[in-house]
Amino acid sequence: MHKITLIPGDGIGPEVADAARRCIDATGVKIEWEEAIAGQLALEKQGSLLPDSVIASIKKNKVALKGPIVTPIGTGFRSVNVAIRHALDLFACVRPAKSYAGVRSNYRDIDLVIVRENSEDLYAGIEFEEGKSETINLIEQIEKYSKKKIRPDSGISIKPISKTASERIVRFAFEYALKNNRKKVTAIQKANIMKFTDGLFLKVAREVAKEYEGKVVFEEGLVDNMSMQLVQKPHNYDVLVLPNLYGDILSDLCAGLIGGLGIAPGANIGEEAAVFEAVHGSAPKYTGQNKVNPTAMILSGVLMLRHIKEEKAADKLEAAVKAVLAEGKSVTYDLKPDRNDPTSVGTREMADAIIAKLT
Ligand code: NAD
Repeated sequence: MHKITLIPGDGIGPEVADAARRCIDATGVKIEWEEAIAGQLALEKQGSLLPDSVIASIKKNKVALKGPIVTPIGTGFRSVNVAIRHALDLFACVRPAKSYAGVRSNYRDIDLVIVRENSEDLYAGIEFEEGKSETINLIEQIEKYSKKKIRPDSGISIKPISKTASERIVRFAFEYALKNNRKKVTAIQKANIMKFTDGLFLKVAREVAKEYEGKVVFEEGLVDNMSMQLVQKPHNYDVLVLPNLYGDILSDLCAGLIGGLGIAPGANIGEEAAVFEAVHGSAPKYTGQNKVNPTAMILSGVLMLRHIKEEKAADKLEAAVKAVLAEGKSVTYDLKPDRNDPTSVGTREMADAIIAKLT
């Protein structure tokens, strides 16, 4: 029996989380779900978007399946999602981008994996607001040290990139490649311009790559050029390892290659815990309509099953999802050639069709 934290989340979160939970249970794997409320409902009931009990539950169970969570503006929280990743040191964000027959896309047979560093870079949340005295002080200090001018009416965001985090994420990418029989890791950066941050990331990546020589091929790519390469020749790539910001942007690009956010799963992994969630957000305009595509969340469940070493159940569930997508019958509106197709089914019914393939 596995004990797993289930965070339904906001907006469409509870609907897709319920669909995923039902599909996972239908594989026959024995899971005791511990529900933990974060987001809007937690704010209303417990006065906090991210109650301590949520983090405590994930720390205890070590695995969570999570629906998307809204970040209301002006609450002091940068993002609940980022806060969870930081609190649990979930340093690696893994986002496979894989084509499935039946899903419309301009590309076929895409099979890429994004490994994004999750803990630092411009997303570290170290920001200084324009006009504040500390910002003006900081600008003066920077000008003194760098001998470069910064406009006094600037806002400043800090981009820390460490050897420690770079080594950890690159090693994770190579180990992932080895375990998953992948042939190549490409380190994506802009080291030619940002020598002391992206340059450091690349230097560390080259060093780590030496340890895997003969086992996994190592390549380097500049993020601007890679954006074009991925659109023109996505089949040339395999595992991509990136600092936080580029990883965020290119994972949406890769979701675009496989037919959109509705089918893009993800995992946030640390030494002590792992949280599985779709790439998409809470799509508030569809809340409670039993309308959106549960596939991204269900495939996040497949990743979760693999993580807890329930490979057979994971293969079974992925095959069931594949079959329903390929048939194209019991699928949500976004997977139909015409989005107004009256034969499209709801979130619940698509999950039912997947469950029917499992039994
Ligand atoms: P979003 O991903 O929620 O939605 C953008 C659009 O994508 C939707 O309007 C919809 O057309 C489509 N879409 C998304 N998921 C879909 C699905 N499962 N099926 C079909 N179509 C789908 O992005 P957004 O509107 O920028 O963000 C909304 C909220 O979600 C924000 O508050 C944001 O902070 C939050 N968010 C949370 C997470 C997370 O929890 N990890 C991630 C991204 C955004």
